[in-house]
Order: sequence, then C-alpha cells, then structure tokens
Amino acid sequence: MSAADPRRALVLFSGGQDSTVCLAWALERFEHVETVGFDYRQRHRIELDCRQTVRRELAAQFPRWALRLGGDHLLDLALLAQIGDSALTTERAIEMQANGLPNTFVPGRNLLFLSFAAALAYRRGLNVLVGGMCETDYSGYPDCRDNTLKAMQLALSLGLDTPLTVETPLMFLTKAQTWGLADALGGTALNALIAEHTHTCYLGERGRRFDWGYGCGECPACQLRAAGHAAWRASRGTA
Ligand code: ZN
Repeated sequence: MSAADPRRALVLFSGGQDSTVCLAWALERFEHVETVGFDYRQRHRIELDCRQTVRRELAAQFPRWALRLGGDHLLDLALLAQIGDSALTTERAIEMQANGLPNTFVPGRNLLFLSFAAALAYRRGLNVLVGGMCETDYSGYPDCRDNTLKAMQLALSLGLDTPLTVETPLMFLTKAQTWGLADALGGTALNALIAEHTHTCYLGERGRRFDWGYGCGECPACQLRAAGHAAWRASRGTA
C-alpha cells in the first residue's frame, strides 16, 4: 500500500456498487475514512441495510483498510420526499420525462447531499468528501456533472471558510471501468463482495441473483449494472 494521504475523508456511502468502490478507493488513499448515508425514504431502502454489511465485510476481508475505517453516520433526510415526488420515493413507475431525465430525479439531490456531508465533515474534522457521481453512460443528472461538483467544492470551501476537496473517482469511468477499478483496488475478492453485498436495483428487489449481483434485472439501474459487468468481463476475455 502506498503512503497514505494524511487528510481525513468522508465518503457518501449508499450501500450501492458505485459508493462501495469509492469507499475502497478512499480507504486505499486516506489515513482516516468515515462514511455517511442518507435516509430520504427511498423506495430502494434495502440499500441502507446493505451499508453495514458492506462496511463489515470490507473490514473483515481487507485488514489494511480496517485500520483506516472510522465511524458511520446516517442522516435522516425525510424532507426530500416532500420535495421530490419522484419514482425513487413514491410508488410511481420509472419513466422518461419530457426534459429527457428519468423521473427518478430528485431535483438537486446531490447538491443537498454534499451540503449536509460538508456540514458533518466540518464537525468531524474531515477535509475530503468522496462521492460516486459520474458523467459517463448515466442518465444525465446535472448535479452529477464534473463542473457542478467543482462549483460545489468552491462554494462549500468558501461557505465553511476551510479547504474542502470534493473527490469523484468515478466521474469519467464507464460502468465496465468501475468494475475494473474495484478489481485494481481489491482484486477478485472486492468484486465478489460488491456482487454479493451491494445494492443497486431501483425497485429494491434482492430476490434473484445474477453474476453481477441481486436485483430485478429489468429496471434501469439493474440493466446498467448488468451491461457494465458484461462489458468488463468481455474486456478481460472472461465473458
Ligand atoms: Zn432492478
């Protein structure tokens, strides 16, 4: 393991694949890493149960990371359900809206998450926020774009009057490359952990096990994860 960055990190950790890879990435880099999750009454609340399992398995299987893994925080953002009225928090069908965004979009969700995470980081003496936002092959959420995140870094650093770095290690990776990054960080064991213990399905289903993990296999999140896994395996010649 390379010499650790002495800064202390807070990972926005949902219990899904992307944020789990971000957590591994942060544990590989920073001396001290804490995690924060948000309960916004999401329909896929099952992912909140996955969070503790993933943390426990990461610590058990990667002792070098266990030494760096600090506390977990769960913030109650139930008010997002009042604002959102989207398919992620209510029982509506997931569909594309006229503006080209799927109706899973809670407006500005990541801006809110980052603001709460920054306040928590300030209280905890943490100076790096790590998030799984990604511009590539996703749904075009404007609050996931690189420039949005860079603007947030500046606004939060100014508003808190303390240097705060926003790291987004997945920003320009395809889903296949995200599986590849996990492989580089923690080998086959990390990708097996991700397939078994992380949650992605928008519908919150864990009934069926595919080679890429559990889910309904049909919703946009499942299809994206399945396609990424297939492309990654094909790129390694193991399809
Ligand atoms: Zn699904």
